[in-house]
Order: sequence, then structure tokens, then C-alpha cells
Amino acid sequence: MLNDQAIPQKEPEISVGIILPEDEMQQVIVNIPNGEYSIVANDKSPTIITESMKITFATAGNKVCLQMPDGTELCADSLHIRQNTELPMRKNAGVLVHGVIAGRDFHWKKNIDVFLPGHMEVKQADGQLILINHLPFEHYLMCVATSEMGAACPAALIESQTIAARSWMLANVEKKHRHLGMDVCNDDCCQRYQGTNFLTEQSIAGARNSHGIVAMFENTICDARYSKSCGGMMESFPTIWDGDDLPYMQVKRDILDQVEEQIDLTSEDAIQTWLDSEPLSFCSPQTIPEYELIKYLGGVDEEGHYYRWHYHFSQVEMTAVLNKTLSLGAQKILKIETGERGGSGRLKSIDIFYLDKEGIERNWHVKGDVAIRAALHDKFLFSSAITITALPAASSVPKEFVIRGAGWGHGAGLCQIGALGMSLKNHSTEAIILHYYPGSKLVKIY
Ligand SMILES: [Zn+2]
Ligand SMILES: [Zn+2]
Repeated sequence: MLNDQAIPQKEPEISVGIILPEDEMQQVIVNIPNGEYSIVANDKSPTIITESMKITFATAGNKVCLQMPDGTELCADSLHIRQNTELPMRKNAGVLVHGVIAGRDFHWKKNIDVFLPGHMEVKQADGQLILINHLPFEHYLMCVATSEMGAACPAALIESQTIAARSWMLANVEKKHRHLGMDVCNDDCCQRYQGTNFLTEQSIAGARNSHGIVAMFENTICDARYSKSCGGMMESFPTIWDGDDLPYMQVKRDILDQVEEQIDLTSEDAIQTWLDSEPLSFCSPQTIPEYELIKYLGGVDEEGHYYRWHYHFSQVEMTAVLNKTLSLGAQKILKIETGERGGSGRLKSIDIFYLDKEGIERNWHVKGDVAIRAALHDKFLFSSAITITALPAASSVPKEFVIRGAGWGHGAGLCQIGALGMSLKNHSTEAIILHYYPGSKLVKIY
């Protein structure tokens, strides 16, 4: 696991949660390739796997057990699958784990089979199975870069994405799963990691060419957050998360050589004008047409609009969405008031006024980027840089709500579509990092 305090002097090993207690799994099936692995239970001597086999791990009381194909059972507090020697990184290398959950808590949640390099540890907590993948950090980064992006990406994009992922991990600020013995989980909650399933020559080269390089501000590693599209204006840290302002994560236009004055999007009028326009940015369709994004980025739609977009909800639809996402128990939505905004126009809060089932007027306060986006769309709104218009204007019970927005994600730090735009315009890895984390510098720490 990562050290809490010090900047590592050599490449660390990291621990990635693949199956978490919240997945509520009691067993998992894995395929082990032949001749390269051993199974270790507590302090017993290892069992060397001489042929490829399918093994089932299952919880049993406060232990985990595995059933070998010949019927013998092995039980222990924790069971390990270890590589006998370090294997070369290539697509689909490693142990195949079946039925891993991807997209936890999201509408796209599904079960996938993943090939995992490195060692596996299987244990349990309160009867729920836990599977942790321990592997060299740089191998993990090779897999993260392509789980997030396509193989057609220019090298500077993959390298800057790898540097952002490496820096964010080593800054080690969030620690969401540390109590379970994991540095990160495998999902969007931390960073999407799907083992060697999508490993490419490009992502391997991206990690090798930037080996050990992080973005630093003064003497600390940058907490290098990133999202899909800032919408033309980057957001600052405290608008999105609890915490202090970070000098290298500021409200800033996503373009170089900006001649116009810095635009302030904190007012309702300013964000209206901003959403009406389509200013040139590294992430705007003038730089990279949206239908081309699918060639480069994972998880985008062919016809998706991410820079500027809108949704129309009828009164019935809006009521249904909010009843689903917030369990409001509303019969009519009267008004959705927008609160304070960050510098990219992203909302810090909204207030929903509605009639409950008895016809009594009530209101509901929603605070924070994630909560607002989860409330306003049952499939998670792209961003909180939005305006909400009730129609007809000044009606006491609107017939329709129009949500117009910019960007995809929190918009703080590196903008992935913008970094793609920069790399397609032949900007270097360093130029990309310095644009999205202003004032930082690249340092090779190991
Ligand atoms: Zn996580
Ligand atoms: Zn952007």
C-alpha cells in the first residue's frame, strides 16, 4: 500500500479493491493460467498451479475457502494467488476474475470479467467477499490510461492522463477504502481500472515514457483531479469538494493566449450568456468535433453532446425524476431555485419547491455538485454548470422545465476532452499538464 506521508523514492506496490463488501458477493470464480501461479493460505506452503484451472472462492463463516477442481478444499482468513515470477504486461495477461461489478451506484452498472496482473488476495468482512489486486504501481497506471481512453489517442494525451493519474494517486488525499486495506477501488468512485482487458502498446508506452513523473506544486505532489469536459471554463477545488483552495486548480478558460478578459460565470446572467454561446476552447467542437470523440475516449456516445447540451422535462417527467432521485413524494414541482455558483458556473446548491401528496407546499435543499447532478437526472446529469428555466415564465405550476448545461464532470483540473484537443494540436505533455495545473512543474520522483 501507499505510504501516508512521504513522497516515494522508488516505485510502490499498490492495492486495488476489485470486489468490495458493498457488492454483497459470497463467491467468485477465477481462471488461473498454467504454470505461473501459486496458491497460498496463511503460513502454509504454497500450492503451485501446474495447469490452467477454474477455482471458486467462497466465504464460510469468518474464513474464505476455495474448492480445487479435484474437490479438495482450503480455508483460511485470507487466500492469495501469487505470480511465481513477474509476467510481461500485455492485453488479457493475468488471472481472469468473473463477474466483477463495474459502474457501482450508476445506471450503467454491470458485471464484467477482468484479467488482473499481479497478486490476488481474497478475504471476507461480515460474510461479504473481498478481492484485492496487489501490483506494481506503474503496471496499474498502464491499465488505467486505457480503461479511460481509446488506443487511437495521441501519445501526449495518454502521457498527460497517466501523469495526472499517478499524481492523484500519490497525493493520496481521498483514501476512501483504506480501512479495507485498499489504496483505491476499481471504479469511477476512484479511477476506472479494468486490469489488462484494454491494455495497448500506446498505454504501455505512455507509462514507460513518463515513468515516475508527477506534477508538483512547490514541495507537494498535486492532487491532480480530472474530468471529461470542463465546458470551456475550469472550476476550482472548493466549489466541488470540501477543502481549501488549491493554487494549481483555479477557475480558468480552457484555451491558451486568451485575449478576452477573464469571464466571471458566478451570476445568473453571465451563465445564461455562456450557455448561449459556444466559445472556442480546447474541449469545444471547433477543436474536436463531438462525433469524433468516440475514436479517442472511452464511454462516450456517438451522437453525444458534451460541450453544450439541454434537456426538456414536462411537469410530469420532472416530478417523476425528483420523486425517484430524492424520494420527494411530490405531486407537482413549483420551482427550482439555483443557489451560489463557482467560477465555471457550477452550482453549489439548489432549492426545490413542490406540492406534496396532501397539496402542502414544501421545499428541499440540495447541496454540492454530485448531489445536484444525482437529483436532476435519474441517469446523473452531465454537469452542474446549468440554468433551469420553468415554462411558461411566471406560472405558479410550470408545464415544463428546461435544463441547459456545459461540460461533463466536475470540471476541476485536467479536462480530458480539452487535453485531447491540445494533443491533436501538437501541444506537448508538459504544456498540457502546465495548462491544467497552472504553476505546477513535472518532477521525476523515482
Ligand atoms: Zn473508490
Ligand atoms: Zn475543457
